[in-house]
Amino acid sequence: MKIEYITTRILENSKGEKTGKIRIVKFKEKELADVIFKCPECGNEQKSEEKFKKPFFYSCKKCGHKVKIISLRTEIKKSLKKGK
Ligand SMILES: [Zn+2]
Repeated sequence: MKIEYITTRILENSKGEKTGKIRIVKFKEKELADVIFKCPECGNEQKSEEKFKKPFFYSCKKCGHKVKIISLRTEIKKSLKKGK
């Protein structure tokens, strides 16, 4: 299968600790993207298939913590603005 989009992001909890992670894999042949998620707030690990769109929103089924994945291009723009 051909990968259309793949990303792994480290997620921070409300204290700024990098305790969570999300991985999104979207194959060209599949309608839904595979999501593997570890909640930075409660440590809950879950796996699901989601409709893929940008920006991508995902929430923890255990504690309701929400994450937003913005596109890499947007992140690059942001870091350029910061002068990194
Ligand atoms: Zn959670």
